[in-house]
Amino acid sequence: MDPSPLNGFTIDVEDYFQVGAFAGEISPKTWDQYESRVVANTERILQMLDQHQTRATFFILGWVAERYPELVRRIDRGGHEIGSHSYWHQLIYEQTPDVFREDLRQSCDCLEQLIGRKIRLFRAPSFSIVNQSLWSLQVLAEQGIELDSSIFPIHHDRYGIPGAQIRPYCHQLGDRRMWEFPPTVTQISRWNFPVGGGGYLRLYPRRLTEWLLSTVNARGDAFQIYIHPWEVDPDQPRLRGSLKSRFRHYVNLATTVGKLESLLKRFRFGTLSDTLSQEIDKGQRLTGLAS
Ligand SMILES: [Zn+2]
Repeated sequence: MDPSPLNGFTIDVEDYFQVGAFAGEISPKTWDQYESRVVANTERILQMLDQHQTRATFFILGWVAERYPELVRRIDRGGHEIGSHSYWHQLIYEQTPDVFREDLRQSCDCLEQLIGRKIRLFRAPSFSIVNQSLWSLQVLAEQGIELDSSIFPIHHDRYGIPGAQIRPYCHQLGDRRMWEFPPTVTQISRWNFPVGGGGYLRLYPRRLTEWLLSTVNARGDAFQIYIHPWEVDPDQPRLRGSLKSRFRHYVNLATTVGKLESLLKRFRFGTLSDTLSQEIDKGQRLTGLAS
């Protein structure tokens, strides 16, 4: 028996001009005017996963799925897991419940028609399930979402619920239950440090990330990493934006592939569902959240 835990490998499938960092400069109405690179970049990630015989979870933007249906089918044929990343990549805490419900339904309908199965997983654009948008959990459960991965247990200027649990847990929403698998943090003193995803993966030196993630496995927990197709594309067109936005989007882009290769060699990865099942099977530390 392999004693090392399975960890979640997740990809938020969106193009470089759809990210939250540039949302103030780029209206979704103009997305069609940009050169799309999401298919080639996602293919590159798929190849990497194939080489390491690893299955992953792809949270796909409805807008991307509608325009590139073959990409969704290719991901599905590869045995990977597919979840929703919304349709229009809008911050949930800036939406009304009705607008969010419609956006979610549109994205799930599109994905379900392409793969012929119910969509059960969701990740919010920019982790935008925060204290003032907790109402969205009920909307997700009503849509049939069974596993959410949107609540980041950190302090951040755009997202996060600092006191939220760091291990997978269950939301009890009326008579429905929905699992939450939080993006991974490590605890140093009383602070939670994000590790293994997006800008944090690009920012931290490879050895620091690997050491921090190994401490999560060493304490007996699974971690998850998250990346975006544009993060494996150092040659993507440069966009205008604030200094902070450009730093967050462009820092160390050329390092992502090497870091992912190294992580894939060093750790065991699988879909988020399989990783969660393993954690549930362990039958420990999993607590229900009373609503
Ligand atoms: Zn996103």
